[in-house]
Amino acid sequence: MSLHPLTLLFAATLVASLAVKFWLSSRQLQHVARHRDAVPAAFAERVSLDAHRKAADYTVTKARFGLLVSAVSAAVVLGWTLLGGLDALNAVVRDAIAPRFGGLAYQLALLVAFAIVSAVVDLPFEWWSTFRIEQRFGFNRTSMRLWLADLAKSTAVGALIGLPLAALVLWIMAAAGAWWWLWAWCAWSVFNLLILVLYPTVIAPLFNKFEPLADEALKSRVQALMQRCGFAAKGLFVMDGSRRSAHGNAYFTGLGAAKRVVFFDTLLAKLTVAEVEAVLAHELGHFKHRHVLKRISAMFALSLLGLALLGWLASRSWFYTALGVPPNLAAPNDALALLLFALALPVFGFFVSPLGSLLSRRHEFEADAYACQQASGADLASALIKLHEDNAATLTPDPVYVRFYYSHPPASERLAALKGAAT
Ligand SMILES: [Zn+2]
Repeated sequence: MSLHPLTLLFAATLVASLAVKFWLSSRQLQHVARHRDAVPAAFAERVSLDAHRKAADYTVTKARFGLLVSAVSAAVVLGWTLLGGLDALNAVVRDAIAPRFGGLAYQLALLVAFAIVSAVVDLPFEWWSTFRIEQRFGFNRTSMRLWLADLAKSTAVGALIGLPLAALVLWIMAAAGAWWWLWAWCAWSVFNLLILVLYPTVIAPLFNKFEPLADEALKSRVQALMQRCGFAAKGLFVMDGSRRSAHGNAYFTGLGAAKRVVFFDTLLAKLTVAEVEAVLAHELGHFKHRHVLKRISAMFALSLLGLALLGWLASRSWFYTALGVPPNLAAPNDALALLLFALALPVFGFFVSPLGSLLSRRHEFEADAYACQQASGADLASALIKLHEDNAATLTPDPVYVRFYYSHPPASERLAALKGAAT
């Protein structure tokens, strides 16, 4: 028996990505532990040694847990593919459903069965992360009851949105011939735009309460800032983020004129009016530099490339057998192709991900520079320090780990850039 080159490439890449993840995390663990007992000079006036140590412990705990999750995920991917998990699940679902209900019902059932098994594997880790790690560091505010209610709601929303989309894509794959991937991409793009519109108005309110910003002083300040920046939004909202977590945030959602500004109540509780203004100016910087548009366009372009690749792979039987699942002889293989692609792609994508992090960090610097022009850089710096402390984010991450994973530059680099802009 000889192995297909794709089998070897896939297995080698999986092992290599796990090795790189272990190497990066061990660097991060050592670096943070080495700097645990001294606050960096640039933060000495603002950050207490206790807070610095808490951030180190939180970072170390999360990095260790992340390693466990990486190892388990790699084992799960291997289990589904080369070790025959998907092949076994497929045989059971296909034989039970295809003869009586037809090919589309069988394929939908396979996707659902796969989603259920994956969720059951993931849940204990999510539970541990919320009720053990976040709890231990005082960040968790959610109850078991709310957590279960969230789970039920997100499952229902996922099914309501995911099943029709999956049925549509499977139908296109069967009916649209060799160019199916182009049609599937159109459907996927329309679906994504729809979610961008529906998320703030329909989906997010299922999980959180959104109330119009009531603080008049803050409101007039924020409105003046938005006017200065030439930015129109449908409304300013406060979200009850404190129901689930103590971590604070602020963001924009929506498209075109339906844009909304959302502040977490946890953010407003911690920052002064001037600091909130500076944080918002940073967010406006993302819009002024068209970062959101660039990100969405990149996502559309990448999904077109991905679907074109899948369009080519799906009609080759070695694609299935090399990843551990012999194709069906008397039933359609489209759902299998989608699942195998979704399992294999992230394994290869891991090595490209630092590029995305790099672009994201550049965007953060650009947004910070914009905030310095439209609001006070000193207030932004002070807000960043507060948010770092409140999120227990380490001030001393390993530089290589940062290059690989961080979507935001470390606080020391951002503060240095802000200081440079002020002088
Ligand atoms: Zn940002």
